[in-house]
Amino acid sequence: MNLLHTLPITLAIGTAVLSAQTGGPPWTTPTPAEIDAIYPDIEALYIDLHRNPELAFQETRTATRLAARVKALGFDVATGIGRTGIVAVMRNGTGPAVMLRTELDALPVEEKTGLPFASTVLIKNANGQSTPVMHACGHDLHMSAWAGTARLMAEHRDRWRGTLVLVGQPAEEGGGGAAAMLNDGLFTRFPRPDFALSLHDDDTMPAGTIGYHPGYFRAMSDAVTITVYGRGGHAAMPYNTVDPIVLAARIVLALQTVVSRENNPVDPVVVTIGSIHGGTQGNIIPDEVRLQLSVRTYTPEVRARTFAAIRRIANGEAAAAGAPRAPQIDAPSSSNAPVYNDPPLTLRLAGALKKALGEQNVVEMPQKMTSEDFAEYGLAGVPSALLHVGAVAPAKLTAARDTGIPVPAPHSPEWAPEREPTIKGAIRAEVTALLELFRGN
Ligand SMILES: [Zn+2]
Ligand SMILES: [Zn+2]
Repeated sequence: MNLLHTLPITLAIGTAVLSAQTGGPPWTTPTPAEIDAIYPDIEALYIDLHRNPELAFQETRTATRLAARVKALGFDVATGIGRTGIVAVMRNGTGPAVMLRTELDALPVEEKTGLPFASTVLIKNANGQSTPVMHACGHDLHMSAWAGTARLMAEHRDRWRGTLVLVGQPAEEGGGGAAAMLNDGLFTRFPRPDFALSLHDDDTMPAGTIGYHPGYFRAMSDAVTITVYGRGGHAAMPYNTVDPIVLAARIVLALQTVVSRENNPVDPVVVTIGSIHGGTQGNIIPDEVRLQLSVRTYTPEVRARTFAAIRRIANGEAAAAGAPRAPQIDAPSSSNAPVYNDPPLTLRLAGALKKALGEQNVVEMPQKMTSEDFAEYGLAGVPSALLHVGAVAPAKLTAARDTGIPVPAPHSPEWAPEREPTIKGAIRAEVTALLELFRGN
């Protein structure tokens, strides 16, 4: 408890009395007017966050801004959880504990949206190299919606009961931020949530439309590196060499058969070779070539089988080429978990959202092979749901369907969510979902 906490509690008692006097219907969703009233403040926050992105585990300015906001609203706020994360708790009477998570981090991407508030930030990354930074995944939008939801829930705390746990998680982008917060006692030092929610922006749905998917939703993701060895020499005398470029090229093509010929098509797998490096100039045959792969799967069995196929193919091609030594294959021993949206929770939320937002504005989404460390909270035993909010102007989606050229997606330097309807839709969905869970069964 701090001084700031006591003031809004007093205010809450005042509004509770008022509410009891008026005795209106239960609050199930915020009205457009309630969201419009806070929007200018939230949009200003969005623009500020967008202009000032920070990389994984460096989100100190971002965390400070958000912490100050929720503190002023009457939350108990802890900072530095899992290095740069924040936890804001509002205990508001008897009821379930519900966690709402936003990510804090941005990506090493040079922004090309042309927006007047585009990021021009250059930051030193963990290796000390200077890199442009952009909120290219929309985490600035998630933080803004989270802050708007916090404000509505705090200002109307006389209309719900329970414990709201707001989490600002660092380093979602491959940095292990969720695990860092859990290791730092997120579920032991703070109220353990009965449910965990998060909302991500999406490039396939109209702005403000909410997407849900019960069950497995996001894949496991593994980075695999293969270094193939040859015997270098003069480009004019390839007969004196073992050419690792040709060997690497054969491996790249042979690996395409892992998915097309070895895997049961009902088990989703992606094997992408995203990087291939070898050699210095055209008249030299190099000694080695390095391949970097991204492997996406949903189950440990399929993952193990895919890894075994990659090893067998790389070793077999090297042997066939007469390579002086077997390739070096570096694969992680364990993977991140797939995101599993608890089906009863997800369907319950979908029902409440459809009722509040209209059937046509809440749609079931397909699975994807991207990954998300939100999976960690479900893995820790808390029923979880990762929802999505469409962030594209409907006319742009129609044009994309007509031309066959997709709109820029998250992680693109041109990703620019349709600001106002997306933020408002996200706040509306988050508050509606929280109120559904706080209402109890
Ligand atoms: Zn991302
Ligand atoms: Zn993201």
